[in-house]
Amino acid sequence: MNFGLHVRVGAGYDETIAYAQRLGCTSLQFFSGNPKTYRVGAIDAPALERFSNGRKAAGIATSAIHTSYLINLASEDPKISNGSLRLLTNDLRVAAAGSVPFVNTHLGSYGKRDRSEGFAQVVAALETALTDIAPGVYLVMENSAGAGQLCGGTMEELGALIRTIGHPQLAVCLDTAHSWAAGYEIDSAEGVDRFFDLVDREIGLDRVVMFHFNDTEIPLGGHKDRHWHIGEGLIGLAGFRAIAGHAGVKGKTAILETPGEEPDDVRNMDRIRSLFA
Ligand SMILES: [Zn+2]
Ligand SMILES: [Zn+2]
Repeated sequence: MNFGLHVRVGAGYDETIAYAQRLGCTSLQFFSGNPKTYRVGAIDAPALERFSNGRKAAGIATSAIHTSYLINLASEDPKISNGSLRLLTNDLRVAAAGSVPFVNTHLGSYGKRDRSEGFAQVVAALETALTDIAPGVYLVMENSAGAGQLCGGTMEELGALIRTIGHPQLAVCLDTAHSWAAGYEIDSAEGVDRFFDLVDREIGLDRVVMFHFNDTEIPLGGHKDRHWHIGEGLIGLAGFRAIAGHAGVKGKTAILETPGEEPDDVRNMDRIRSLFA
């Protein structure tokens, strides 16, 4: 597997790559812009090309853009849903310019309306985003913790999106903390086997290109999105050891979105690497 961290690009791409390299990452994830605004900047093609070359030179095999937290493709407010689509489409272009294979996105919340109506809107938005996606870039839907009317909280719903849209560049990212919060019991070998059987049946393991490895202190099925250090939460070392031993993760990319500063990042990266060694 390729392991990495979500890294801040505040100080520029060179610093980002240097940080990831120092921690022994073979993958990294970043925000392409300010994750809290609907504004999109112009695409800085030369900077992105430098990022692409620098990443490869640093031995970082894969990378991912995480789209803005504001994205809600399921919103009934057209200002929000159109703005979300614009952000997503922009990130797909940034990814193409920077040789970033994965654009990971949350789908959003249906709000008060009927789920089938919201689902149809999400399908339409994803289809639009996929119309001019560049070769080599994947639009990756991240599973949610499933609170309230959040879209993508179940493997069944993600699978339905994959099948309804039927595009080869539409893929899935499974966040372990969100999975646990959504009620999937992945703290033991039996639970992890059951989970991956379900994933394979509903989505197809080949469509899962990426994982977010995060532990969590939220109780099973608690539907809250809170990340914690690897092995120090309720998924625990037993859960991550079982995930590490499962064929479903082989050769794929995993990003840690654990809290804290560099010493925490070092500890979390060391722990995940030792589990997979
Ligand atoms: Zn996310
Ligand atoms: Zn999360």
